[in-house]
Amino acid sequence: MVETTTQYEQAVVVGTGFGGGVTALRLAEAGVSTLVLERGRRWRSGPNGEEFARFSTLDNRTAWLSEKSTIRGLEASWEPYTGVLESVRGDGMTVMCGAAVGGGSIMYHGMTLQPTRDNFALSMPGAAALYDELDRWAYPTVARMLGVSTVPDDVLATAPYASSRLFLDVAEKAGLEPFRVPLPVDWDYVRGELAGSYAPTYTTSDLSFGVNNGGKHSIDLTYLAAAEATGRVRVEPQHVVRDIALDDQRRWVVTVDRIGTDGTVAEHKTIIARAVFLNAGSTGTTKLLVRAKAKGLVPDLPDAVGTQWGNNGDRIYAWVGMDGDPGTQQGGPACVGGRGPDSPIPYTVIHAGAPMPASGTPVMTVVGFGVVDAAGTWRYDADTDDAVLTWPVEGDAALQKLIAERMDAIAAAGGGRMIDTDAGETQTWHPLGGVPLGDAVDLNGRVLGHRGLYVLDGARIPGSTGACNPSMTIAALAEHSMAALIREDLGDVF
Ligand SMILES: Cc1cc2nc3c(=O)[nH]c(=O)nc-3n(C[C@H](O)[C@H](O)[C@H](O)COP(=O)(O)OP(=O)(O)OC[C@H]3O[C@@H](n4cnc5c(N)ncnc54)[C@H](O)[C@@H]3O)c2cc1C
Repeated sequence: MVETTTQYEQAVVVGTGFGGGVTALRLAEAGVSTLVLERGRRWRSGPNGEEFARFSTLDNRTAWLSEKSTIRGLEASWEPYTGVLESVRGDGMTVMCGAAVGGGSIMYHGMTLQPTRDNFALSMPGAAALYDELDRWAYPTVARMLGVSTVPDDVLATAPYASSRLFLDVAEKAGLEPFRVPLPVDWDYVRGELAGSYAPTYTTSDLSFGVNNGGKHSIDLTYLAAAEATGRVRVEPQHVVRDIALDDQRRWVVTVDRIGTDGTVAEHKTIIARAVFLNAGSTGTTKLLVRAKAKGLVPDLPDAVGTQWGNNGDRIYAWVGMDGDPGTQQGGPACVGGRGPDSPIPYTVIHAGAPMPASGTPVMTVVGFGVVDAAGTWRYDADTDDAVLTWPVEGDAALQKLIAERMDAIAAAGGGRMIDTDAGETQTWHPLGGVPLGDAVDLNGRVLGHRGLYVLDGARIPGSTGACNPSMTIAALAEHSMAALIREDLGDVF
C-alpha cells in the first residue's frame, strides 16, 4: 500500500519554469522557507554529456509519461518515462509543455525577446500600466540573471551558421527588419564545438530535448540554483500536484504524488501551506484551477478561470528549395529573425536551425508568431478528471494570413517554397493564459477573492506576449509581482 504523509509549509511553489524559478528565488531572499514541487526530473547537462535524447537517439526521454512517441512523424512505442516534453491534445490545438526541473527552459531554444511598449499593450491591455517599470528594471534583471547575448560575429561567420546568414540576407530582401536574437548561451561552448573539443550540439541544432553540451543558462542553473543556495528552498522533483483545495480552516491543502521515473506512485503527500504560488505553466496551472473550481475544492473561484487562452500565434514553416546554400548543418539556437514593420498585426519570424534530414535535402525551419485573440477556453471533463482546451480556428486566422504572406515573400526573395507544417494539426509551443490578469488574478498575481493563492506564470498572460516568445515576459512579470508581494503580503499572508 502507498503511504500518505502530511506536512506543513510556510510557502509552496508548484512548478519550476520561469514563473516558479523567479518566485522561489525572491521568496528565499525575503527569508521565506519554501517548498518547490516539480513533476519532472532533474537533468544534468554536459559538456559532452549524453543526458538528453538527441535526434539520432529519439527515445522515451523525449516524452512525458507516454507509451507512444509524441513527435510528429515518429512512430514509436516505448516504456513510459518522465521525459522532457508533454503533448496535450485539445480541440483545435495541441499544446507542447516542458516537464522538468527548470520547466520549459530545459528544452527551449532560449529566444529571449522583450516586446515593445505598444505590442505589450496590444497583447495585455490590462497590464499596460506596468510596462515602464518592467522596462526599467524587471526585463533587465531577467536578462542579467539569464546572461543573454546575441550570436557573436566570429560564430556567425562559421560554416554551420550559413543558414543563419542566408536567412538574414533573404529576410531583408523580403521586406523584414532582420535582427539577432538574445539567447541565454555561453558562446564559448559553441566555440568549443567549432574547435572540435565538444560533440556537436549547438552547431547542429540538436537542442530540442535539452542541450547535452551545457553552456545554456536554464532556470535550474540560474534562478533555482540561487534559490537553493540560500538554504531556504527545497526543490522536490518527481512530485505531481494532483489537486489544490481550501479546507474549512481556510488553509491551502495541496495533494501530491511522489512518482518514480516510470510514473509509479511511491508516496501520497498532503501538504498544508499558508500560501501557494502556482507556476505549473499555462496548461498545468489552468488545469489545477479548472479542476478545483469544477469539483468545488476551492469555492468561489473567479468565472474567468479557464478563459482567455491563446497560442501566441505560433506557426512552423519548412522552407525547401531555396536558391542560397544553407550548408550541411545548421547552427543554433535560433539566433536570427525578422520583424514585420508597420504590420496591422504585430508579428515576428525566426529561423530555428534543425538537424539535416536523412534525405540530405536542406530544409530551413522558419517559425512565426504574433498577437492573437485570447479565444481559447478550458472545460472540466469529469470522466478523465481533467480540463480540456478548445481553440477556435478564427482565434489567430487574421495573423496566420499575414504570416503566410510573409513566408511566401521570403520564398519569393530567396527561392523555393514554404510548407506550413502545422496545416494538418495546429500546435503551439507557447501556451499562454487560462487564468487571466485582471479577470482571474490581480496585477500582482493574487487570485481574486483568495488570500494566499497566487498565479505567477504564463497562465496569467491572456494569449500572447506582444509578438515575442513568452519566457522573457513571464519572468519579468514574475519579478515585478514578487517585489510587490514581498512588500505587501510578507508577514501578513505568508
Ligand atoms: C520545445 C520548446 C521550445 C521553446 N522555445 C522557446 C524560446 O526559444 N523562447 C521562449 O521564450 N519560449 C520558448 N518556449 C516556451 C517557454 O518554454 C514557455 O513559455 C515557458 O517555459 C513558460 O514558463 P512558465 O513559468 O509559465 O511554465 P513552464 O516553464 O512550462 O514550467 C511549468 C512547470 O510546472 C511543472 N508542472 C506542471 N504541472 C504540474 C503539476 N501538476 N505538478 C507539479 N509540477 C507541474 C512542469 O513540469 C513545468 O516544469 C518553448 C517551449 C518548448 C516546449
